[in-house]
Amino acid sequence: MKRIAILTSGGDAPGMNAAIRAVARKAMYEGLEVYGINYGYAGLVAGDIHRLDIADVGDKIQRGGTFLYSARYPEFAQREGQLKGIEQLKKFNIDALVVIGGDGSYHGAMRLTEHGYPTIGLPGTIDNDIPGTDFTIGFDTAINTVLESVDRIRDTATSHTRTFIIEVMGRGAGDIALWAGVAGGADDIIIPEHDFDMAHVAKRLKDGQERGKKHSIIMLAEGVMSGDEFAKKLAEHGDFDARVTVLGHVQRGGTPTARDRVLASKLGAYAVDLLLEGKGGLCVGIKDNKIVANDIIETLENDKHHPDMSLYQLNQEISN
Ligand code: ADP
Repeated sequence: MKRIAILTSGGDAPGMNAAIRAVARKAMYEGLEVYGINYGYAGLVAGDIHRLDIADVGDKIQRGGTFLYSARYPEFAQREGQLKGIEQLKKFNIDALVVIGGDGSYHGAMRLTEHGYPTIGLPGTIDNDIPGTDFTIGFDTAINTVLESVDRIRDTATSHTRTFIIEVMGRGAGDIALWAGVAGGADDIIIPEHDFDMAHVAKRLKDGQERGKKHSIIMLAEGVMSGDEFAKKLAEHGDFDARVTVLGHVQRGGTPTARDRVLASKLGAYAVDLLLEGKGGLCVGIKDNKIVANDIIETLENDKHHPDMSLYQLNQEISN
């Protein structure tokens, strides 16, 4: 093992830069040469590959986004694209690849592994929806960003005795809504992993208002339905003077939290350790507070992401 490369792919997440830095610095510390690939799998296939030196990853740990840029490149789902990618890696005499990204990016890494190319996946997404890890890089920052908005919305909601529906990201996963909902004291949390009954939601809101509650906040995961659709359906059960806030891409940006930077640093350095031991075809993560590595093919085929549903029950018991 002499040369490794790093790419970031799919939706960007705060902490990706910290992960790139950790992989690069640890690899350099171990005497390896490091290459950065711009624009994810698109850049890999196009040969947009350049040497990184120690200073290139300096002053990046605190920055959101990814300085290697990201891209969506559906062509990589085809065998032809994958083989072209491996051809480029071989042209640059690169021995192994670290992919930082979400579920789609992991599938790309899995394909490279199936073609016999040593690849390791690092979980980088705000959605926290990747199997093989309890937490993804970027999730902690995103929930803190959401929380800041929830606190602000709570101020205005209280002033006008209004109900606010806050639509948050997460694709098919409810983790952002769950964590930010509990932390923000939401009256109800609506996620794809749990059925809900609008009549019951409305009753909880009414009960709260009758007790003199000045504000009501509903945390809605985008994977269930849009905030506007939810507000329309809620209106069928009473007049809640509901307002919808769609937080959107602000959730993707910003300075990564300490927790995300530390997670990125640990996972990045561990990926290099594994490659030095001659191990590829893995995805790394954190399970029960321990850094772990799992077979990427097995993980994607057999493992499913599950949010911490105890948070759902907890919120039912302590909110409203
Ligand atoms: P994320 O990694 O955040 O889930 P995407 O789903 O957009 O984001 O995936 C990122 C990129 O990973 C895609 O643009 C494509 O290049 C690659 N990719 C996605 N799915 C596959 C697949 N099934 N096989 C190979 N590559 C894939």
